[in-house]
Amino acid sequence: MSRHPAQLSHICQEASNTERQAEEYVNFVTTHAVPKAMTLAEIQEATRTDPTLCKVIQLLKEGSWGSLSEKQDFADGVDVAALMSLRKIKDELTVTASDDTVLRGTKIVIPQSLQNKAISLAHEGHQGVVKTKKLIREKVWFPGIDRQVETMISGCIPCQAVVLPNHTQEPLRMSELPSSPWEKVGVDFCGPFPSGDYLLVVIDEYSRYPEVEILQSTSARATIPKLDKIFSTLGIPLEVKTDNGPPFQSSEFANFATYLGFKHRKITPLWPQANAEAERFMRTLGKTIRAACVDGHPWKQTLYAFLRNYRATPHCSTGIAPADVLFGRPLRIKLPESPLPFQSHTDAKLRQADAVAKNKMKLNADKTRHVAPVALKVGVRVLCRQKKEGKLCPAYNPCPYKVIAVKGSMVTAKRNDHVITRNSSHFKTLPAVENHHTQSSGWKIMNNGQDAMA
Ligand SMILES: [Zn+2]
Repeated sequence: MSRHPAQLSHICQEASNTERQAEEYVNFVTTHAVPKAMTLAEIQEATRTDPTLCKVIQLLKEGSWGSLSEKQDFADGVDVAALMSLRKIKDELTVTASDDTVLRGTKIVIPQSLQNKAISLAHEGHQGVVKTKKLIREKVWFPGIDRQVETMISGCIPCQAVVLPNHTQEPLRMSELPSSPWEKVGVDFCGPFPSGDYLLVVIDEYSRYPEVEILQSTSARATIPKLDKIFSTLGIPLEVKTDNGPPFQSSEFANFATYLGFKHRKITPLWPQANAEAERFMRTLGKTIRAACVDGHPWKQTLYAFLRNYRATPHCSTGIAPADVLFGRPLRIKLPESPLPFQSHTDAKLRQADAVAKNKMKLNADKTRHVAPVALKVGVRVLCRQKKEGKLCPAYNPCPYKVIAVKGSMVTAKRNDHVITRNSSHFKTLPAVENHHTQSSGWKIMNNGQDAMA
């Protein structure tokens, strides 16, 4: 049967419409695949049906930990290994009056059926391993929590596709800790992104709390109203540090500083040495937005999820979540709060942690981390590096390949009918088992059949 050319082009049009709809649907699904917030009621219900935690509740109530033995007969579904690691911390465990929530100190012990969900919530926004562990442990606990977070992130394709091995640390010059929150802030831009947007980033040097606003240009005219808005919410800082970029050289900005009464300090470079953490935060922001694109998520939504989690995560240098320091209360996120009262931080504790962290950073400043290349074996799943086209293109092609041959440092890998041979340094190993909690169909969108970098 022959078709008229006009009919054919009509059919092609229709096919591409269908494809677009499918793509939009995948986007919708991946966006909504992010689990909903976890409630205390949900935990109570799951605890009641968790054989291991039921056993723990019984042991706690009877005070009979002493009689517990690995060899005894347990009820169906009791995770003996988990029970034994719970025994090691038995003195820290309590059960709520309602008999359906186990606490370790102030933290809720998550029943097995909700553990992966808790990790997904803590990893929303794709913070790295260290930050994700810190955030989840800030709110909840369960046996093997660190290892499970590591496993989950090592299988998170959006994360693996954007992170390059062998990071080197910047040389550091430390800035002194201000005496209170929101006294000294740094202001910088991130972008432009493909949408044409920029991010205006304001970081408090004391709490490390970041404020982020989306801008269409970096002109003084666009920047000043956004800063005005931030300073109306959080107050006017005593000192605002910026680089020598055009908006900060303008007379408008000088007038703005006089109008609000803050001291404007121009420092070049703004972050790299004086504040390596802020520089790292800026890089993480960029990584987050790239990961969002791999995920097929709307980047603004991912940005807010990232910021919410970042602000609630104890900061590496202070040991306290930036929001706790700035607001004196925990930021409520999608993970549940402890039912016990919140203990606010003290300046002395923060100051000491900050001093220790800065000292440690200084000592490590000259060392660069070297990651030994992992030997690739036939059968392993890998990601392959690709040419970066634009800032948001991930370093690795997010579609996994399977290694089919290894000859010296040359590795051949295959995906469907597509076979590539590259030096082993172009590959990154993924865990053998696909991780369904992080596996996202969104990556299909980024893969336009482009070959990986030769
Ligand atoms: Zn991730």
